[in-house]
Amino acid sequence: MIFCLSISAVGTKIGHPVLAFNFAYLCLALSLFFLERIIPFEEKWQENDGQTFANIAHTLTSKGVVQGLIIFGGVIGITSYITPVDEIGFGIWPRDWPMIIQVLMGLVVAEFGLYWAHRLSHEIGFLWRFHAVHHSVTKLWFVNTGRFHFIDSLLSIILGGGLLIVAGAPLEVVMWLSAVTAYIGMLTHCNVDMTFKWLPYIFNTPSLHRWHHSKKLVEGNRNYGENLMIWDHIFGTWINPNKRPSANIGITDDMPLKFTQQLAWPFKKPTKKFYTERHLKKSAKLKAEKI
Ligand SMILES: [Zn+2]
Ligand SMILES: [Zn+2]
Repeated sequence: MIFCLSISAVGTKIGHPVLAFNFAYLCLALSLFFLERIIPFEEKWQENDGQTFANIAHTLTSKGVVQGLIIFGGVIGITSYITPVDEIGFGIWPRDWPMIIQVLMGLVVAEFGLYWAHRLSHEIGFLWRFHAVHHSVTKLWFVNTGRFHFIDSLLSIILGGGLLIVAGAPLEVVMWLSAVTAYIGMLTHCNVDMTFKWLPYIFNTPSLHRWHHSKKLVEGNRNYGENLMIWDHIFGTWINPNKRPSANIGITDDMPLKFTQQLAWPFKKPTKKFYTERHLKKSAKLKAEKI
């Protein structure tokens, strides 16, 4: 993480932030590829689950749709509406503060939107149908980091990024946040055996995210933070039990194996299994259950 952030910092300084990000992201992916083979957390997760193509296809579609939305925003004039507001200084964002403070503030602000986008995706049945594509994997490894139905990705971008835009955060802060989110996202899904000490109290870590991928609602409907865990602490959804999470992760519903069928799946009529097993349980009831 320190290496990736340093590369991003150098890239920003020399005027090539995107190139630097791509280089750091590739280095991180390569490191995790080897570490997952040398020191895996779950040996069982090294087996092929037949989802590599679908994982990559979802990653590319989500990224494509989000980038398309930004371009479309430019075409219909949303971007030109935001820019003058920035220039005149109507935004409440303290643009003259040191960049590191602005990025930290941005992390906390965006995280509020990301937290609720994620939590609502678990607690509202209709949204869960889209988010279930991400949770349907039976193993965690760095390749399923970007496996999101594109509608699921749009919701996070609109809620997380929207708050930053409304507050008037500059583009540099948005770029830093995108980079940090991408690095942390890949780390949280990796199958590498690591020790985290105090980090899970503040940041999202693989240890916390493994609980989030649990089949049991009482464990899975927890740890919604994307980068920081602040909102999980505030809203009481942070867990980090002092034991090993089950390696048997995934969803109880049936997800098709093919990418195109997975894209269509949320629009189909849910099975009875979906209603009885996942979403008719009230969160109040969850609180009473023991982990
Ligand atoms: Zn989730
Ligand atoms: Zn995940």
